[in-house]
Amino acid sequence: MKSNTFGLGILKGLGVTMKNFMRPPITVQYPEEKLVTSKRIRGNEVLWYAAKCTGCATCAKACPQGNIEIVTSPGPENRRTVEKFEVDTGRCIFCGLCVEACPYDALFLGRAYEKARFRRRELVTGIDSIQFSEERQPSAFARPALESGLPKQTLLVYWDRPRREGGQKLAWLPFKRRGKKPKFPIGRSK
Ligand code: SF4
Ligand code: SF4
Repeated sequence: MKSNTFGLGILKGLGVTMKNFMRPPITVQYPEEKLVTSKRIRGNEVLWYAAKCTGCATCAKACPQGNIEIVTSPGPENRRTVEKFEVDTGRCIFCGLCVEACPYDALFLGRAYEKARFRRRELVTGIDSIQFSEERQPSAFARPALESGLPKQTLLVYWDRPRREGGQKLAWLPFKRRGKKPKFPIGRSK
């Protein structure tokens, strides 16, 4: 007859609980903490590089949503001046076809993903709100030349890395793990 040790299952379960209780968390306290997105993310915005745009409207023709509105006028040296370049990001499906279609590398998808607004009309972006800036950074989607300048994606929180490399600080835990090799993240590629 097989004899079972009384309470062994409970002790095993408690062991697992205690082991995980002492581990650093692998979740992110969003929005205070954020992971670095993929270099080729298709973010919630279309960005435009005015200096390269010829106003050819190839991007507008490629858009399956009819989402890009361009108005041009005759400019100097047989070029077109872009008077209006409007993208309705509320209707955009972020397929990137406009970016791929642009023959002059003047269009990019952005890296931002927090573009929720209360009113739909606030999602219509014009010339002033689709050009590059500190907040509006282009993604390397369909623009591989940008990849080397973008930060590496973080899939989990990297506790042992400096913040500029996607690392985070254990701000709320009572002990520090800096300098100590953590068990997480699993499968880190470096
Ligand atoms: S990403 Fe797609 S849907 Fe959005 S503007 Fe470009 S082509 Fe149109
Ligand atoms: S396809 Fe490129 S160059 Fe032509 S209008 Fe669109 S952004 Fe400008």
